[in-house]
Amino acid sequence: MSIKQTLLNRSNHQCELCGATESLNVMEVTPSNGTAEQAILVCQTCQDQIANPSHMDVNHWRCLNDCMWSPEPAVQVIAFRLLTILRTEGWAQDLLEIMYLEDETRAWAEAGLFEEEEDTTPTKDSNGALLQEGDNVTLIKDLVVKGANFTAKRGTLVKNIHLTDNPLHIEGKVNGTQIVLVAAFLKKA
Ligand SMILES: [Zn+2]
Repeated sequence: MSIKQTLLNRSNHQCELCGATESLNVMEVTPSNGTAEQAILVCQTCQDQIANPSHMDVNHWRCLNDCMWSPEPAVQVIAFRLLTILRTEGWAQDLLEIMYLEDETRAWAEAGLFEEEEDTTPTKDSNGALLQEGDNVTLIKDLVVKGANFTAKRGTLVKNIHLTDNPLHIEGKVNGTQIVLVAAFLKKA
């Protein structure tokens, strides 16, 4: 029996995530050994959304509320990963908290979490020198600090900087005030 036939039987000819009955395809749940136990049957809608997590229709995934209780570990794994992506939605976070996974299933789910866009762009100063956590820098131009009502003068030393999520920005203390600085206006000291 083909994997697809096995899954059609297992799922009763339904998408194992949302229950749709049209355009069903086999999706391997990576990392997988290629068996039916490590695959699920999904409809085109689910498959497209999983392939393109930045364009998710949050409401479509309300179906996770049901399928997360599937007895199939492969379905639980996908539900867990989707809920993890959607966890900024309160309901998804709530479901994640009550979701139960066997240790083995959880390890599988975590091993293949859909990659969130990782920003590995390094932070660089005006000369292209790599800036690191804790570095000291100087300002290469006068900087008006909005909100704090002072101008940080060119040449001001900023000690012990912090990197931020944005490679173009760092945080540092100027005049005792923690501010965000544009890396391109700094020089490594
Ligand atoms: Zn579906």
